[in-house]
Amino acid sequence: MMINKNIQRAEFIKMTGTLAFLMLSNKWSFAESSLSSNLVATSQQRQEYTLSLLKQLVTDIGPRPSGSKAYAKAAKVVLKEMQRSLPIVNFDKYEFDDWGPLSGSDLIVGGQHIEAIPQKRGFGTPLEGVKGIFTKIGNGYAISDQQHGQILAYFSVSQYGRAIAGSGSGNLDKSIPVFGLGKQDISILDRSAKNKLSAWIKSEYKPIHKAPGINVIGRIPGKSKNEILIIAHLDTIFNTPGANDNAASVIVMLMLAHAASGRENNHTLTFIASDSEEYVFEGAYHYAEGRIADNTMKDIKYVLNFDSLTYGPNLWINSKDQLVKDVIRDIHKDLNIDSTPIYGDNDGFVMDSLPFKPSGAKALHANSRGYDEKTLPVYHRPDDTLDKVPLDCVEISFQVFDEFIKRVDRV
Ligand SMILES: [Zn+2]
Repeated sequence: MMINKNIQRAEFIKMTGTLAFLMLSNKWSFAESSLSSNLVATSQQRQEYTLSLLKQLVTDIGPRPSGSKAYAKAAKVVLKEMQRSLPIVNFDKYEFDDWGPLSGSDLIVGGQHIEAIPQKRGFGTPLEGVKGIFTKIGNGYAISDQQHGQILAYFSVSQYGRAIAGSGSGNLDKSIPVFGLGKQDISILDRSAKNKLSAWIKSEYKPIHKAPGINVIGRIPGKSKNEILIIAHLDTIFNTPGANDNAASVIVMLMLAHAASGRENNHTLTFIASDSEEYVFEGAYHYAEGRIADNTMKDIKYVLNFDSLTYGPNLWINSKDQLVKDVIRDIHKDLNIDSTPIYGDNDGFVMDSLPFKPSGAKALHANSRGYDEKTLPVYHRPDDTLDKVPLDCVEISFQVFDEFIKRVDRV
């Protein structure tokens, strides 16, 4: 039985490019996998599991932008983890074109260096950089041409703390290079703008052509085709090891998979560690397109998108479905979970879950808040490291969503 199963898995892994949904339910024994659910049976085990995987993904591999060798390594780690308990595990591969920063410089204003980070998918400066007068515009700043006042570079300021990749302003000509600056530099920036100091900055982008994208998919066939789908992105932006965004959430998802593998489920469960979320969700779209093509999109009844579950103990749930929020609320009460979820009315189909909207499923997008001082300033930064992950938030997320899966599985 064991050998047979491994052969089937090996065949699965070989299949790339297209989606493969062999239903192996009849060949997969429930008893066989109940051992693996013991991996995460106690909070002690879950903590050890979390730390060991955080070390592998965050500390040992580090930044894993989509298309990189580091990402491929991380995908292998997740594949191996899923194989410990799930009967169906495979890579879902695709190619994507995009672009990303190759290099960026500090902002130099009035001779002083100020940390600046280029936009994720933005426009570069000329090779020699851009030079002009430092000015304030709207909520941000700009380097403007001395003679004509034309904007040569735009700067946004992080609301959390130190500089993160810049975000463009809607009013701007789209081809202007954009950078992010840190909140701590506001007074010096304001002074520089007031005194119209001269400023310089540089950035360079590289095209990403036919880069390898890899989603890792794990499935547990249920008694019915009706499906609960959970997605958490595994990729990071170029400059961060992404412990909170989003390795810890991927680990929560893996633990939910181990736990569910030890049960007999009515619903089929699908777990996706998705790629390219930090570009424009190419991974989730690729997988979803496969589900439309093989006419199984309609089987999906629940979609859960986990992104940054560990910014604090209070889960931040966005959903248009009152039932979803009611279940989350009841679970907190019934399990005596000592935190206060935040409920938003935004669509649960957002970012990586948006491609699954055609399913008509009930959907939620989960983020979190509560340890904002510790966790938010490291968002998209090199210091989003293992030690910044509050382990109690991992445990809360596991408990809430493990119970969530059990409850909606009965309906
Ligand atoms: Zn994220």
